[in-house]
Amino acid sequence: MNDVLIPYAKLIEGGRLVTVDEVESGLACNCICDCCGATMVARKGESKVHHFGHAPKSTNDEKPCTFNFKRGCFWLIKQILEENIGASIELPDYDLTLKNNLARHQKIYQVTKASAPNYDQLISFELSAHNDTAIAMLKVGKHKLRLVFGFPYLMKSPCTTGDNCAEVFVSLANVFEAYTKERKPFIQIIKSHIFSAQYKEWLFHPRQLKYVSMFDAICDEITSELKRQNPIQFQPKKKRMHQPSSPPFQYQVVKPKKEVSGEAQDIIKYNARLDEMINAAATLYSVLKQSKAKHCDSCQFLYMVTNSTCPTCGHHIAAVIHLDDEYFKNLAQKYVSVGYVDLSLKNHHACSKKIL
Ligand SMILES: [Zn+2]
Ligand SMILES: [Zn+2]
Repeated sequence: MNDVLIPYAKLIEGGRLVTVDEVESGLACNCICDCCGATMVARKGESKVHHFGHAPKSTNDEKPCTFNFKRGCFWLIKQILEENIGASIELPDYDLTLKNNLARHQKIYQVTKASAPNYDQLISFELSAHNDTAIAMLKVGKHKLRLVFGFPYLMKSPCTTGDNCAEVFVSLANVFEAYTKERKPFIQIIKSHIFSAQYKEWLFHPRQLKYVSMFDAICDEITSELKRQNPIQFQPKKKRMHQPSSPPFQYQVVKPKKEVSGEAQDIIKYNARLDEMINAAATLYSVLKQSKAKHCDSCQFLYMVTNSTCPTCGHHIAAVIHLDDEYFKNLAQKYVSVGYVDLSLKNHHACSKKIL
């Protein structure tokens, strides 16, 4: 137990928790151990980080102290939250990225902007079974806010309680280092974790449900339109030989065309154009063995250097580029992030597959 640095203790008078920075040195700190009740000394030397230690002969050898750093942080957090009702809690931005591989669609929704609401009440404070997380339920105006304090970053998990309460993860991962290595006052470290947005990350916001269902609806539209256009690709994977029960070709019936929203159509068009651009580039390099190509300034397609105008759109301004394995690394991603696909769609409406 001696090698554990105890950053806080309990005042004999009143029973409040105090950090080592808030008390006198030595026995004059007037504290006992919050865990085992032994008399504490505040050790504020030069060599080690300031900490509390059990006073000599104060501990019970038969019942050794089981002070735990993580649990200690949680109790201090609880007291700080109880003592600062009305203070503002900074919350970060919440940008939710949704992705659907089948529909080849990805979108970022801004669920909420950074804010700093005041909390009116600490409704409850609970420790998880293994002391890895502590959950503070706060009342913020008409709403509730659940702060999940946790040490290992991976402990965070999306809202599982199903009560649709806003939920924010507060990572305490660097608390120990800030205390022992950077030697910041412990009370400041803990307070900055509770009140600043720096260590927080949204796990759930009730508004995200709306975005998830909007996104799912678009993806459903995209996949059913793709199925309609190309039923073969969307056949379910071949079942094992011994399952004759399912009817063959069940997806090959072409359904009548449904109204497809503009957004779904745009995404389908976008992905189709991206494929065409990639195919044109790949054909030049792999099939036609070209080490150079012209990159059309207008439609953004690549074409043969021997052509004076772009065979896709007829434009004549182009940049000559080198084709090598490096160029093809994450090419689709590059075309998307640089904006070539958007530019291509803007400058050239009709699709054609000429490259020569
Ligand atoms: Zn103790
Ligand atoms: Zn062109």
